[in-house]
Amino acid sequence: MRPAGALRALLLALLVLAPGLPGASPVRAIAPPAPAGPELAPLPPCRYLDEMTRFREPSDWARTMLDTRLRLPRDYRAPGLVSVTRAGIAGSGKVRQLVIPDLTALARAARKAGFPLQVRSAWRSWETQEAVFAGWVRKSGYREALRYSARPGHSEHQLGTTLDLGPAAASRDPWEDGGMDRTPTGRWMRANAWRFGWVMSYPKGEEDRSCYGYEAWHWRYVGRETAAAVRESGLPLRVWLWRNSERLP
Ligand SMILES: [Zn+2]
Repeated sequence: MRPAGALRALLLALLVLAPGLPGASPVRAIAPPAPAGPELAPLPPCRYLDEMTRFREPSDWARTMLDTRLRLPRDYRAPGLVSVTRAGIAGSGKVRQLVIPDLTALARAARKAGFPLQVRSAWRSWETQEAVFAGWVRKSGYREALRYSARPGHSEHQLGTTLDLGPAAASRDPWEDGGMDRTPTGRWMRANAWRFGWVMSYPKGEEDRSCYGYEAWHWRYVGRETAAAVRESGLPLRVWLWRNSERLP
């Protein structure tokens, strides 16, 4: 358990026990709330498998867990795709319409702060991902490609809610020069993107739990409430979804 979690548990225990303390009115000890379901299985290790992810309806977009083992069906089609330019952001590609209001808000806030953004990659079909992965294999070899690219079906880009973002002024891709890691734009995103519903799926130092190397440019939209909860937890999205996806609508 993380220190913050331990402290919260202690405070909760004190609150629960408080009525039984001297001076308080005598009441029966309140039993702690029962867990929502059976004990959660430990987070599966990052292996290269082809298991179908559990929540895989298009309406499950916020809670669909994808990693190196879990994937979407080949015929998963993200509905309501529109051009990202509808959000008043530079770049091209498509996202789901439902992303547009908060992408607009994110783009506007970033611009106002002096760090305008550009979309470098947006929705990708199974077939496109197949080509992208094959391209990385040609460039860096299969093992290295696995660290930074997803096999078809395993990419969050297929959801239609995930974007690779970079600074608007940059001519190179954000993954080529580490552009989003060491730039003020990247810092601004890490501090603020969650306010608009966006989560960095593969944070630094979490490769063992997120299953991919650090990707400062890769942002998935999960909605403001969920993004705030993920941030508050301090967990990588994959771990957070493993623990909470069942409870999401
Ligand atoms: Zn990406």
